[in-house]
Amino acid sequence: MGQKSCDVLIAGGGPAGLAAAIALRQRGADVLVADALRPPIDKPCGEGLMPDSRRELARLGVNMDDRLGARFSGILFADGDARVRAEFPHGAGIGVRRPVLHHLLLDRATELGVRMAWNAPVVMKEQNAALVGGERCGFRWLVGADGHASRVRAWAGLDAANLRSRRFGFRAHFCIAPWSSYVEIHWGAQGQVYVTPVGPHEICVAAISRRSDVRLKAVIDSIPFLRNKLAGAQVSSAERGALTLTRRLHRVTRGNVALVGDASGSADAITGEGLAMGFRQALLLAESLGQGGLHLYESRHGSILALPQQMATMMLLLDRHAWLRRRALLVLAARPELFRAMLAVHVGEASLPRFLAQHGLQFGALLLAPQFA
Ligand SMILES: Cc1cc2nc3c(=O)[nH]c(=O)nc-3n(C[C@H](O)[C@H](O)[C@H](O)COP(=O)(O)OP(=O)(O)OC[C@H]3O[C@@H](n4cnc5c(N)ncnc54)[C@H](O)[C@@H]3O)c2cc1C
Repeated sequence: MGQKSCDVLIAGGGPAGLAAAIALRQRGADVLVADALRPPIDKPCGEGLMPDSRRELARLGVNMDDRLGARFSGILFADGDARVRAEFPHGAGIGVRRPVLHHLLLDRATELGVRMAWNAPVVMKEQNAALVGGERCGFRWLVGADGHASRVRAWAGLDAANLRSRRFGFRAHFCIAPWSSYVEIHWGAQGQVYVTPVGPHEICVAAISRRSDVRLKAVIDSIPFLRNKLAGAQVSSAERGALTLTRRLHRVTRGNVALVGDASGSADAITGEGLAMGFRQALLLAESLGQGGLHLYESRHGSILALPQQMATMMLLLDRHAWLRRRALLVLAARPELFRAMLAVHVGEASLPRFLAQHGLQFGALLLAPQFA
């Protein structure tokens, strides 16, 4: 059996693991990333990178050219005939297939000299060593970027958490020219569907439901607008599913172990912020280790999760109560400036307390107003 060693071992080479490797390497650390799979790694995802995700990627030296996917300029909510849309205050989002994103992160990591091991599951052994693809590897720091069912998290005794929501996500791609320059979120009786343009002739359709026994087609069919749009469109990727959770861990570090990405907590996929959070955590982790330890990371990690989780709570409330959702959409359609302001909060360009102070009372009063009943 051979022997490897590194300063930082990252278990999991998905977006959060590669982002952490890049951020750490940008600060000169000796990093080894190991993943049980081979690249490019695909994963069920809505594939929308909001403008804030693109900004975090730029800080990692990954520039997303619009030609890599399809640009979108804002968000549209629809529930039957109630519709509202708003543009992002600055910049645009991009819909990009997961393997393309993975490839870009991989290229950047390679350029910086990150060491990588693929088809190499990480199995924990002891405090400062693991098996990487069956080979012993010593490390000073261990980063668990191994997704929402993280083994590193369990091994480090960091599983204690508050689980706020648990839903099921499914996605497939369709060969059809995007009909909209927005990410569209449609509500139906079986769940929500969001449609992200990912190319000039392709869209990603993701459905999220509280029920595990429904599938993408059933959710699409429950929404007449989408059923009509997608009727006859060729499916270009097999349907895949995954859990999506809103979860906050009690701690994200212990000793020399830190968690990033979904392993460290998450917000329901409908927020479209999972990737951005992983990129932010990666940058924060590098800053923290640059200061010699994990204290900064532990103390600031929660603030990265806070806003997306608050937004998830709001979206789940709308999901649970059809009457509230319809009223909210009618109010926002009548006052599009409120939806614009909300979107600015969502992408981190305005503060939630300020939004609530400026618009909270007005929004609440409108929700109760008889004309929106
Ligand atoms: C249906 C759905 C739609 C979504 N839509 C969006 C969206 O539009 N925008 C957005 O920003 N986010 C979205 N998300 C969330 C986003 O996909 C996740 O937040 C993101 O994938 C998390 O990345 P990660 O690197 O933490 O985890 P993962 O992508 O899960 O990567 C974990 C990696 O760890 C590896 N691994 C696991 N165990 C081991 C082991 N023992 N040893 C070695 N490797 C291991 C796995 O092979 C995997 O490659 C969506 C999620 C779902 C489910």
